[in-house]
Amino acid sequence: MALFWRRGKQDKFSTSVLGLDKSIEELKAQEAAVEREIGVRFSNAISKTRDSINNRLDTIFEGRKKIDEALLDELEEMLISTDIGVQTTMQVLDAVRKGVSRQEINDIDALKSVMKQELLDILQNSGKKGVADETSVDAAIKPYVLMVVGVNGVGKTTTIGKLSQRIKNEGNDVLICAADTFRAAASDQLEIWAGRAGVPIVQQKQGTDPAAVLFDALQSAKARNSDVLIVDTAGRLHNKANLMAELEKMKRIAGREVQDAPHETLLVIDAVTGQNGLEQARQFTKVANVTGIVLTKLDGTAKGGIAVAIAKDLNLPIRYVGIGEQVDDLMVFDPENYVNGLFN
Ligand code: GDP
Ligand code: MG
Repeated sequence: MALFWRRGKQDKFSTSVLGLDKSIEELKAQEAAVEREIGVRFSNAISKTRDSINNRLDTIFEGRKKIDEALLDELEEMLISTDIGVQTTMQVLDAVRKGVSRQEINDIDALKSVMKQELLDILQNSGKKGVADETSVDAAIKPYVLMVVGVNGVGKTTTIGKLSQRIKNEGNDVLICAADTFRAAASDQLEIWAGRAGVPIVQQKQGTDPAAVLFDALQSAKARNSDVLIVDTAGRLHNKANLMAELEKMKRIAGREVQDAPHETLLVIDAVTGQNGLEQARQFTKVANVTGIVLTKLDGTAKGGIAVAIAKDLNLPIRYVGIGEQVDDLMVFDPENYVNGLFN
């Protein structure tokens, strides 16, 4: 996991937050401690999925001496039940069959390790279409414009609250733009999060053209010399043509005001909605130029395999995961951590 949101900011972070007197070794030790803590919290968040997988695996292996077709059928059922998707399930089973025929898989541990490797490969190869890392954008470009899109209720506003706190804590000046002007409550809710994070917010009255709010926010970000501008958007999908026109207009304005903006467009997906959420997400990626995924509410499901289905199906990197409703319940997605968390 990356402790620093943007590499260019590392100096500012270490001097302003950690104190000048810390040696590199101390900083590394501190980072390792944070990583351990985060590993534990992440592991807790996906414990429902892990328990479900391990219980089924134990049952499947109970009283069996060899890996035969009947066992593989049960394994298939187990994999499907975690929501990793049909395609991924077939890919994993193929790998397992190969391993069995080569006599490389004789026990449950060898089986787990083959499955882990397949899932890891999928997750690590999923970044090709998107932006896997904010450091890929020239650090001299300011503000870094991050748009957040997705249907209502998936957790966009909450994620923006968590993200702004995190990015701010790592030494960056953050500004929030409330461009979901469709519902009055949206801006109010975002204002509460901004207050909590101690981050300024640009908002206008309900019904204002979202692109106009964004234009305002971009001017304000430049005037304040903000490092990052995070943009909330309306999530309604019932009128796709409108939504597309709106998002496109916003992107055009962002790109006109700041080089290469928006630098990231994060699509928020609610893990609890599983395959249905993925179908909605697919619709969204058709209209918005999505560069990465935030998977929220991973703490609330035993079908946490959906992360793999999303990565494979949308071919986009999962950037962050939400593991609760509190401000620090957001993590940078780490494929290895995730896969280990599912099986260990
Ligand atoms: P929006 O309509 O997309 O802006 O969604 P909101 O940010 O308003 O969130 C909808 C609900 O989901 C709220 O009750 C949030 O507290 C909840 N929520 C968001 N992210 C998470 C998460 O990671 N875990 C859990 N358990 N709840 C979340
Ligand atoms: Mg919202």
